[in-house]
Amino acid sequence: MTHLDCFSGARSEHADAGGRRSVYLTFDDGPNPLCTPDVLDLLAEHRVPATFFVIGAYAADQPSLIRRMIAEGHEVANHTMNHPDLSRCEPAEVQHEILTASSVIRMACPQASVRHVRAPYGMWTEEALTTSAKAGLTALHWSIDPRDWACPGVDAIVDTVLASLRPGAIVLLHDGCPPDEVGQGTHAGLRDQTLKALCRLIPALHDRGFAIRSIPQSH
Ligand SMILES: [Zn+2]
Repeated sequence: MTHLDCFSGARSEHADAGGRRSVYLTFDDGPNPLCTPDVLDLLAEHRVPATFFVIGAYAADQPSLIRRMIAEGHEVANHTMNHPDLSRCEPAEVQHEILTASSVIRMACPQASVRHVRAPYGMWTEEALTTSAKAGLTALHWSIDPRDWACPGVDAIVDTVLASLRPGAIVLLHDGCPPDEVGQGTHAGLRDQTLKALCRLIPALHDRGFAIRSIPQSH
């Protein structure tokens, strides 16, 4: 099975029960000591929850940020240990990447309940889906990708999200960058565009009658 066949195994939006016009914010590739605290501050200021798909190796280095996410009502989810392209990994490596990331999160914060997993680059494989299911993790993709990681400009990020908005949408944003781009991730301005876009997006979503919510428990 190719990763494209497996794509349907990962959820890319969430049923919007009861017409509640919910939208879900997700942040990948952190925690990053320079970017994540600003994102958390902004979410706290607006009192909105998010799901952080963290890289296990970073979580091990920044356990206090994991604890802060949980303490402030966010969900911490699994984005593998080292952010590899899982379609290029042997089955044993896929298992190790997913299972180790979950244990690192729990080590950082024993109260964390790890419920979701997202494959790096959205490269879902049969092994990734099987391993996740066995570990009690729901595979979660996204429905709106404004490509904030490529720094396309604040307007482009905001416009892409608002143009694609619908109830149940899962928005993909980033509060860090993968290990193979870490040379570019050591400056404070790394996610400035994401932060500025978020600053405008939260009120814009509320103005359009959307509620930013935590992803519901699926099982
Ligand atoms: Zn990622």
